[in-house]
Amino acid sequence: VGVFIRPVEKINSVIETYPKGIAGFRRYTELLDTEPDIVDVPDAVTVSGLSGDIRYRGVTFGYSADRKVLHDIDLDIRAGETVAFVGPSGAGKTTLCSLLPRFYEIEAGEITIDGVDIRRMTLASLRSQIGIVQQDVFLFGGSIRENIAYGRLDAGDREIEAAARRARLDTMIAGLPQGYDTIIGERGVKLSGGQKQRLAIARMFLKNPPILILDEATSALDTETERAIQQSLAELSAGRTTLVIAHRLATIRNADRIVVVDETGVAKQGKHRDLIAADGIYRRLHDAQFDLTGS
Ligand code: ATP
Repeated sequence: VGVFIRPVEKINSVIETYPKGIAGFRRYTELLDTEPDIVDVPDAVTVSGLSGDIRYRGVTFGYSADRKVLHDIDLDIRAGETVAFVGPSGAGKTTLCSLLPRFYEIEAGEITIDGVDIRRMTLASLRSQIGIVQQDVFLFGGSIRENIAYGRLDAGDREIEAAARRARLDTMIAGLPQGYDTIIGERGVKLSGGQKQRLAIARMFLKNPPILILDEATSALDTETERAIQQSLAELSAGRTTLVIAHRLATIRNADRIVVVDETGVAKQGKHRDLIAADGIYRRLHDAQFDLTGS
């Protein structure tokens, strides 16, 4: 993939695979300006092959000193579990997830993965263990091969093509004028919303991290595309610890656990049917979000 990707590699070394951010992810340039203190501790450990057992203990965080977004949060996510975060807009679902790759430094408490405080890990190795799929897929002006390889820059062609197959992107690529060498982006072939999502999924199959954060799309794809993408995401998340910032009823129903986040923090946790039966905030959110729209 070579020379073409060099500039990206450079970006990568600064922001570690997250060109645009979830909360943080959404504002990465500001992040670079405002969080220069997120660096490796002198004796930081390099982690690899984590199983993805995640623990938040007494986690407190605010973007500014006078306003806490998260207060004393305790949360356990077992290796391999899929957890859906739901709650009103602005409650802190995205923030909670963006603390895991250390886009921001917590003020109190600790977050551990496999029992190790994430602040003791090198940033690069921590972030190598976490994959993010967001609604806003970052594409750069290069070939589709290079764009998939962005998931893991040293990947060979075969691995890239295998990842594309697993993301069911291969048929579409075969139909492009130059196949994998077709230039996409502003000066090349435009991809549809669904194709961009698949490209993001292919990157993650290539990266193969034990932990996934899915920032689920709020903007609607057509129903059939949506269902197919959901299926691919389910395949991607199999065997990985998955945190979903959830907007879709199907995702929520299929999650191993639902975590309801409100302004007080983690308000409730449980399975869909238990939370519905409990007739609390989850029931109200669920009714407001889904039933009235007929989905
Ligand atoms: P949504 O469902 O709308 O994405 P959310 O539950 O994910 O909401 P967050 O995006 O985590 O909520 O936001 C929590 C709070 O933190 C909000 O009040 C938001 O305005 C604020 N916030 C989020 N990102 C930043 C930032 N980079 N700088 C300052 N404040 C922020």
